[in-house]
Amino acid sequence: MLKIENLHVRIAGKDILRGLSLEVKAGEVHAIMGPNGAGKSTLGNVLAGREGYEVIEGSIHYEGRDLLELEPEERAAAGVFLAFQYPVEIPGVNNTYFLRAALNAQRRRRGESELDSMQFLKRVREKLAVLHLKDELLHRAVNEGFSGGEKKRNEIFQMALLEPKLAILDETDSGLDIDALKMVADGVNAMRDPARAFIVITHYQRLLEYIVPDYVHVLADGRIVESGDKSLALKLEEHGYSWIAERKLAGA
Ligand code: ADP
Ligand code: MG
Ligand code: MG
Repeated sequence: MLKIENLHVRIAGKDILRGLSLEVKAGEVHAIMGPNGAGKSTLGNVLAGREGYEVIEGSIHYEGRDLLELEPEERAAAGVFLAFQYPVEIPGVNNTYFLRAALNAQRRRRGESELDSMQFLKRVREKLAVLHLKDELLHRAVNEGFSGGEKKRNEIFQMALLEPKLAILDETDSGLDIDALKMVADGVNAMRDPARAFIVITHYQRLLEYIVPDYVHVLADGRIVESGDKSLALKLEEHGYSWIAERKLAGA
């Protein structure tokens, strides 16, 4: 589904990613861990096509297409979804209206018919049921005055509604209490599917107790320096990120 090869990315004249390679197949959940400032969000943003990131070398292929050739909207229409670490607030814009506009924009780009209010509400109810969510957040303005947990809940709901093929969650766990964390994990687990892949970016091991990844990668020095299964996350928790660097120095 996704193949990143030797990716080099520069921001504001500084090389952040330096030779990152990663392959993600449909149905897999990959966790990306790494110290603060390592470039984890940079990776997510480059995949989603956010502005300000200069790809100076390497390639990204998504479902056989050159992802870097696609506009952010085209990427979204092709099934790429990025949940932000800090979701935006849009005061005065009703959340239901926003979600329907987002969904219909995606459907138009795919050449599918738009959903009318009734069809949209049917879809909303289905997704609320799957995620065990109440509809209280739908009647408020987008993220305005939402608590951290409510924003994440809304984001997981948005993700469920858009049914992405490749979902990237960037520190969707930061600042969450245990109930909100479980809600995020339940949402992701409910959406796990042989046709869908997840990249879960997290600084801490905690989320991975609930979303059990198929692979864990450590991003440091601008590239993936270590890959393993979920036990790698536990080792990192125990020994810290310096352990990786020490192991490398020791030639392990
Ligand atoms: P992480 O998500 O792993 O904590 P980021 O990808 O957010 O790391 O950032 C990687 C590096 O890029 C950091 O050193 C950060 O300061 C820098 N950086 C990120 N965004 C910008 C920007 N817009 N302008 C300048 N430097 C940036
Ligand atoms: Mg950070
Ligand atoms: Mg980050």
